[in-house]
This record gives sequence, structure tokens and C-alpha cells, in this order.
Amino acid sequence: MQPHNVNYGLVGYPVLMTADIALYKGEVVPVGEDQLPHLELAREIVRRFNSLFGFVFPEPQAKLTNFPSVLGLDGIQKMSKSYDNHIEIAASPQEIRERVMTAFTDPSRRYRSDPGRPEACNIFRLHNFFTPARVEEIASECRSARIGCVDCKKVLAKSIISNLEPFRERRASLASKPGYVTQVLADGADRAEAIAKETIGEVKEKMKLLQRADLKRPG
Ligand code: SF4
Repeated sequence: MQPHNVNYGLVGYPVLMTADIALYKGEVVPVGEDQLPHLELAREIVRRFNSLFGFVFPEPQAKLTNFPSVLGLDGIQKMSKSYDNHIEIAASPQEIRERVMTAFTDPSRRYRSDPGRPEACNIFRLHNFFTPARVEEIASECRSARIGCVDCKKVLAKSIISNLEPFRERRASLASKPGYVTQVLADGADRAEAIAKETIGEVKEKMKLLQRADLKRPG
């Protein structure tokens, strides 16, 4: 996939991801399509551990959504903050409009009068998710050049704004209660820590490693 840049991160990252899943005995992991090979490696690692030392870890299964991969506004890479081709869930309506206007469309549609190819357009892919009730109408208007890309993007921006509104509101409400957020995080960390300690204890027992309780000072 990237023969010019084969580095440690390609294996180190999925191993780290496996640790994060296995430590809590995760059985179902919500991921995007691009993460499936990582999850396959995670299953391989836990299978290997279980066969060498006895069963401890369930094999994690992927949980994909109806839109398992979303391309970014560049229409090339997956949508990601790292590629700066994303739309923040918490973005303001104005920011969403501005971001959508920068998005790439069907590259062969150079003039407003050119018919478009919705199947080759990333804006149209996003319409499938954000404007499902109007996709057929938009596809037909695009193919016959009855709608221009600027107007099509305006429709998309409006849909994204209204789809993300509940999340924006919820986020704003939580941001106004930092004490509550800290408490939720602390509670989650406590629960996670208890599970992690139990799993580590089980792993050490299966591997016949010394436990802390075994380390009594002589005399
Ligand atoms: S009209 Fe819409 S679907 Fe068609 S090429 Fe332009 S942005 Fe894409």
C-alpha cells in the first residue's frame, strides 16, 4: 500500500490497538473499513496467545456502519483531521459551509453547462449519507446539468448543518458543565482500571509470571 514507506508504525500501531482491545476483552469494535486489517491482526494475536497459554481473550469482531468508509473533502484520502480534509462535528454552520465549498467534485465537470457524473463525485457520496431523501433528484439534476456544483454544495452544507445540530447542541451543553465531564471521565477510568487489573492478573497466571502478591521481602 505504501511500498516507499514501510516503517515500524505499520506493525506497531495495530499491536498497540490490539493491547487496547484485549486489555478490556473487547468483543465488538466499531471501526471504519480501513481498520479491518488491523483487527485481523488483533484476532491473530489473541488466537496465538490463547493457543499458547489457554483461553483469556475473545476474538474481537468488527462493527461497521452503513458507511464504513468516508472520503475527505479532497475526494482522495479518507476523511481525517490529519489530512485536513475533514468537517469537525462541532464546527459552526459558517465553518461547515466554508469547508464544503472547498470540496472536490466530479473532475470532468469543468463548466456549469457540462453534465456531471454523480458516481464520480465525492459531494454526491456525502449526499447519500446526509441527504438520502433527495439523492435521486440530485443525481438526475447533475447528469442533465440542471444543478451546478455550487448549488449542490449549498444543499449538502445545509444537510450537514442540520444533521450535526443535535451533536453541536449536546457538545455545547457538556462544555458548559466541565465538572460533570471530568466526573464521567474519572468514573470511566476507574471502571476501565479495574477490568485491566483483572485481565493482567489472569494473563500473569496463565503465563506463570510472578504476581505482585508473590513478591514478599525475605525475613
Ligand atoms: S452537481 Fe453535485 S453531484 Fe454533480 S458533480 Fe457537482 S457537486 Fe457533484
